[in-house]
Amino acid sequence: MNYDVVIIGSGPGGYVCALRCAQLGMKTALIEKYSTLGGTCLNVGCIPSKALLDSSEHFHNAAHNFAKHGIEINSPKVNMQQMIARKNEVVSQTCDGVKYLMDKNKIDVYTGVGSFVSSTAVKVVDAEGKETILNTKNAVIATGSKPNFFPGMEPDKDRIITSTEMLNLEKVAENLIVIGGGVIGLELGSVHARLGANVNVIEFADTILPTMDSAVSKEMTKVLKKEGFKFNLGHRVQNVVNTGSGVKVTALNKKGEEVVFEGDYCLVAVGRKPYTEGLGLENAGIEMGERGMVAVNDHLQTNVAGIYAIGDVVRGAMLAHKAEEEGVYVAELMAGQKPHLNYNLIPGVVYTWPEAASVGKTEEELKAAGVNYKSGSFPIKALGRARASMDLMGMVKILADAETDEVLGVHMVSPRAADMIMEAVTAMEYRASAEDMSRICHPHPTYTEATKEAALAATGDRALHI
Ligand code: FAD
Ligand code: NAD
Repeated sequence: MNYDVVIIGSGPGGYVCALRCAQLGMKTALIEKYSTLGGTCLNVGCIPSKALLDSSEHFHNAAHNFAKHGIEINSPKVNMQQMIARKNEVVSQTCDGVKYLMDKNKIDVYTGVGSFVSSTAVKVVDAEGKETILNTKNAVIATGSKPNFFPGMEPDKDRIITSTEMLNLEKVAENLIVIGGGVIGLELGSVHARLGANVNVIEFADTILPTMDSAVSKEMTKVLKKEGFKFNLGHRVQNVVNTGSGVKVTALNKKGEEVVFEGDYCLVAVGRKPYTEGLGLENAGIEMGERGMVAVNDHLQTNVAGIYAIGDVVRGAMLAHKAEEEGVYVAELMAGQKPHLNYNLIPGVVYTWPEAASVGKTEEELKAAGVNYKSGSFPIKALGRARASMDLMGMVKILADAETDEVLGVHMVSPRAADMIMEAVTAMEYRASAEDMSRICHPHPTYTEATKEAALAATGDRALHI
């Protein structure tokens, strides 16, 4: 078989790249080792986690907030099997959607493990061991990532689990221990906290979400403590033991004292690592970068002409939308176009309730870079919309250049922050000033008014409703 491009991996990087390649007239093949398309994101990542976050939020509201709204119901009960079944249905429909798009765009899909035979040939081995060789002018590595762990905390997929097992747990954890106060730990911890679990987070850094703006970390700490989370910051996990009926986690606190945590499950959520196992990179002469990543230049080209790598397997944020943008980028580059990708404006979201979202530089990054900046913040509780919905926690913070007033970073904790952040991304893409943002008419009553007020505050203490 001869192709213009062979893409290995059908996650949001790979399948979106395939779509754009096909649109641009390339004969395209997509290889996926699993029987369903969509990669981590659709099968065991973004989509199933959001399905469970939504279900658990409905339960939490029914149990704790309906009565205040004047809706009286008998005590709601959790049917975890049904919750998981609905999640599986959402996943299956979404994966089928990708299959439909492949067919519609006449992309040849191969199910099996892909590996390089040379720089112009890729082998596919299916479940029965049948081999197919695909000859190609170009190749794109989009093989994604797998959960990371450190010595002593090796997941056994029984009680010491990763996000993949957690998403299929058919009972509510009673005492959940989470190693890592990052995005996965807080999102999946939230699912079980809302369903009644005690959640104990063990985090190595001094804050949760240590790479986000410190105002977000602080507000999220308050939000999640209210939900019942306990945080053990500055703790280094030594080992995790499956006791048969539960788990025992030993960690060292900052003073070097041993602290023991007991629970029924331990979620290991200490980041993810690039996945290149069995890819035969050496057969094509492809060089590796640091920490197991495939090395690429600014145009996502490897050291071998015609071979590109995108998504979680290369440097940068491990996010689905980043992988998608990179997929489009390399497709257009292969077609001879001059695409552009602004890495500074890739938004990050944590889908707790309220949500946390960020774009651009954090205050800590601006300080470290010696940038002269100004800051404006506005609390969500001061909004009429927030009182109407009874969602009072959160804030919006805008950082702008002290001289030019250009917006450099926007950080928020708010209901629907995942959607709200797009105003900031758009404004920053057009290099808006804080004053520009403050002069845009925002609909009332909405949470977006907090963004306008924060922009007013950043332009010089001009917030109106505080
Ligand atoms: P992947 O999605 O990992 O896809 C790679 C594919 O390649 C896989 O299907 C794999 O089977 C296949 N593959 C690997 N090697 C081979 C081979 N040799 N041959 C054939 N196929 C191969 N990101 C967000 O932006 N928003 C979220 O809300 C979000 N939530 C998440 C929740 C969880 C629990 C997790 C784990 C991740 C989440 N992410 C989220 C991250 C997101 O899933 C990843 O950033 C994204 O999936 C990366 O896309 P990718 O295409 O690079 O790789
Ligand atoms: P993460 O990098 O977000 O968080 C890992 C946390 O573990 C960090 O806070 C880190 O300080 C801590 N940690 C590291 N080693 C530790 C140790 N030995 N003991 C205690 N704590 C330790 O990683 P994650 O939460 O595993 O998520 C993996 C990737 O998946 C992330 O890159 C994220 O972008 C992506 N993801 C995104 C979303 C989203 O966009 N909403 C959701 C889930 C996952």
